[in-house]
Amino acid sequence: MNRIKMHPFKTQNVTAYSAALCTSKKNKKMPYLESHLILERCPHCRVANPNIVQLTNFSTNSFDNSNLRYWAVYSCKRCGGAITAFSFNKEDFVQEMYPSEISIDDNIPEKARAFLTQAVDSLHAPSGAIMLAASAIDSMLKEKGLKDGKLYGRINKAAEKHLITESMAQWAHEVRLDANDERHADDNAELPDGKAAKKTVDFALALAEFLFIIPSKIERGIKNASEKDT
Ligand SMILES: [Zn+2]
Repeated sequence: MNRIKMHPFKTQNVTAYSAALCTSKKNKKMPYLESHLILERCPHCRVANPNIVQLTNFSTNSFDNSNLRYWAVYSCKRCGGAITAFSFNKEDFVQEMYPSEISIDDNIPEKARAFLTQAVDSLHAPSGAIMLAASAIDSMLKEKGLKDGKLYGRINKAAEKHLITESMAQWAHEVRLDANDERHADDNAELPDGKAAKKTVDFALALAEFLFIIPSKIERGIKNASEKDT
């Protein structure tokens, strides 16, 4: 049985994910604040059709009684990650949840976006997530004309061309960009763990932010400002 499809979703906008690395989907279908939180993927481990159960619930209000909200705290049975969500009515649909479900920003070129989405969705399989994140980084650098050489060298070149900051390039050297990294290529090399994969995916998301998302926001801001002036 596919319980995602069976669930009586309603449509609701979601505010942007606070990390600003990704944007939430507009018109995203939100689940209900019930004993189980029905999501397509766990926002922590990204496993599909997660078993997310309610641990506790309570309500809060503002000092002038104008903002009554019903809260529930959930936990993913697979990874143990906690999720907090609220609705404006008891057991109504969720208005916001933390962390929110994320999707990859539309301003990232299609191929890189596909790799990034798969990398985020593969965090439960660290080697695969690292390879996919590295493919996303490769694709993003190619879009910016940095086509030749190894990833680390091309990231340094991106800093030289001021596409990213020096500290961003330094960060690249702190993360594994290849699950079979030559620095770890001996037989005793350890397979990357979830933390290593998360670091690499975070770096790929930040690179996307620098190369595509921030420039497009700036472009939009300039356009909006000039439209107001005329
Ligand atoms: Zn999980």
